[in-house]
Amino acid sequence: MLLRVGQLSIPLLLCFLVPPSTSTVVDNYMNLGKNGGISCISCTVIVSLTEQLSVIHNETILHSLERLCNYFPDKYRQQCHIFADFFGNLLIDGFTAEDSPDTFCHKIGLCYTEQGKQECHIFPKPKPRTPRNVHVHSGFFKEVLTHEMKQTVNKIKQDPKICDLPGIKTICDWIDMIFDKHDPAIDLDDDRFSTYSTLRGSSWRGKDCDDSRKDFHPGSRPLDSDKNRDSNCNGIMGLDPASGQSYEDMYCKDSQARGVVVLGDSLSAHFHIPREWLNTTEMSAAAFEPLPFILENEFDWPEFSSVTGYLNNTYNNVIHGPMNSIYSYLWQRNRCNHRDYQNLSVNGARTGAMADTIQHSLFRNRTADNPVTLFYALIGNDVCNSHVDTFAHMTTTEEIRNNSMRTLEFLGKTLPAGSHVFLVGLVDGRVLYDSLKDRIHPIGSLRNDVTYTDFYNYFNCLEISPCLGWLNTNETIRNMTTKRAMELSSVLKDVAKTEASKYSNFKLDYMENPIFQAIEEFKKLGIQTWEALEPVDGFHSNQLGQALSAQVMWQNLETKYPDAIGPMNPFNDKIKAVFGNQGGY
Ligand code: CA
Repeated sequence: MLLRVGQLSIPLLLCFLVPPSTSTVVDNYMNLGKNGGISCISCTVIVSLTEQLSVIHNETILHSLERLCNYFPDKYRQQCHIFADFFGNLLIDGFTAEDSPDTFCHKIGLCYTEQGKQECHIFPKPKPRTPRNVHVHSGFFKEVLTHEMKQTVNKIKQDPKICDLPGIKTICDWIDMIFDKHDPAIDLDDDRFSTYSTLRGSSWRGKDCDDSRKDFHPGSRPLDSDKNRDSNCNGIMGLDPASGQSYEDMYCKDSQARGVVVLGDSLSAHFHIPREWLNTTEMSAAAFEPLPFILENEFDWPEFSSVTGYLNNTYNNVIHGPMNSIYSYLWQRNRCNHRDYQNLSVNGARTGAMADTIQHSLFRNRTADNPVTLFYALIGNDVCNSHVDTFAHMTTTEEIRNNSMRTLEFLGKTLPAGSHVFLVGLVDGRVLYDSLKDRIHPIGSLRNDVTYTDFYNYFNCLEISPCLGWLNTNETIRNMTTKRAMELSSVLKDVAKTEASKYSNFKLDYMENPIFQAIEEFKKLGIQTWEALEPVDGFHSNQLGQALSAQVMWQNLETKYPDAIGPMNPFNDKIKAVFGNQGGY
């Protein structure tokens, strides 16, 4: 469903190549958790992938580590090899047939057990007869380590931080530059639309068609009817030779064109880590090829998401399923809406962070732009955290009222007249545990030895869970988390009612979280719920779930809120005939 940046989006992947580093964002994550936290899980994942590859390819563990590095694209390969030179020697010298990845990471100090805490394990201890391609040593760190390496090991033992390991540090620094940014990195005219796809560019909001003019951007009302130039980036411009009229006036002026915006969390951003990155039986260089793209989009896939998806799936090696979205429905309904989408979702976002910072990345000119249909979809992080006393860290009903009203006030000052705002209710995250608990997690795919229950328990033991309340073996805790989520939803429902008359520029409605209805749809289609969940994080809906959620939301809009989608444009075919793909994306 959703995710706190520091608690899963970073750990899971950072775990094996991009863990937190020395400054701001990454540094904060570094300090999360207990018993080694993120450094521990990062180590465990690296060791387990390496060890499994050595069995699959019948090669030494050092060769497997090199193999893993060779899967990475150029940009990361070199740093990975620097890391492998160091870590490979640790493995050669210290990883014995009696070790699991967990016990090895305890040996080198990246995992440890704090006083009063239990020891954390995700893998069962290997049976001695399990064949493993490892050297068996009685001693440890004696034979191949240089003086410098021994110093590094000693440093880790005193202050265990995986970002301090050779090679990883550079990668951590890259991450720091990318994450928690809300505006496009490359935006010359400062209109918050970019010609670049990642780094909060056109993956997130319609591609700019002129990055030297602030008044040219998706969603604007055309300047001088776009007789000479395409100011709103919808690909429609020029004069019809027959009538002498501008195409914008003929095809779009009275079409009630509108954009779509989502203020959301990792579910709306569509967080997704390819299972091929953790499942060693299907790991390949092809799966890592889009790594830079994935990283620069914060592990999110807004271009395939339920609200702002706009691409056909061309990343078949790493993401699977159909694409459907509110934006694509709006575009099919009225081609004048081309490129008018803004996905302002941030992994881990709560209602508080939305009101404090994230919402301000919205760009809409009240008078010069078209209205929008906006979804306020903070659907679970307010009840999710990694703390043992999880309930003390959940958003209260008073807080969510205040936070949502602050956002509405901002929208009251920002949105063009004729807009429509939906406050989307929270999910019931119990579906995650109920659907996945006994299934095998991708990291256990070689030996079928890690279930989602093991996986969730491990995160809880390290106190880095994205949602201790729902990803929990204790049913009472799961139920109480849902209870709070439903209380927060009730507040949003109430806010939608009491505040509706306050704003003249938008209509305001509450919408039940589409996932409830989508699950019913799964049943009708004979789809098991787990098939619509993200296999790696066990916490989000996957591509199929996203597409079905979009369908459900769209049906609601069509039947209950026709003003939020506008009429079908009778000129769609003509637009297609004259302008083809309208400049694409
Ligand atoms: Ca235009």
